[in-house]
Amino acid sequence: MTEHTPTPWEVERCQSGDMEMQGVRGANGRIVIADLLRDGQDDIDYAFIVRAVNCHEELVKALERVMNNCVECGEEDEPCVDCECARAALAKAKEEAPA
Ligand SMILES: [Zn+2]
Repeated sequence: MTEHTPTPWEVERCQSGDMEMQGVRGANGRIVIADLLRDGQDDIDYAFIVRAVNCHEELVKALERVMNNCVECGEEDEPCVDCECARAALAKAKEEAPA
């Protein structure tokens, strides 16, 4: 897997002449997403994208901790329902096929 643009990301809005743009900028200063605004409007929820990306690593670590410290299925071969949900979410977060 290639490295993603470093976080934190932030919403960026700028104007050049009569063109207005909105998008997302990474911690390295590079624009990750950008779109021209029409009449100052855009239907893309950049704030949601930024929140999701900026908490991604924390959420992955939290799910891994939950699974590694589960008292319900810790010694069992089969994961409990909560760990199965956590495993499915981690697979999506890491772009892996569910086991
Ligand atoms: Zn469990």
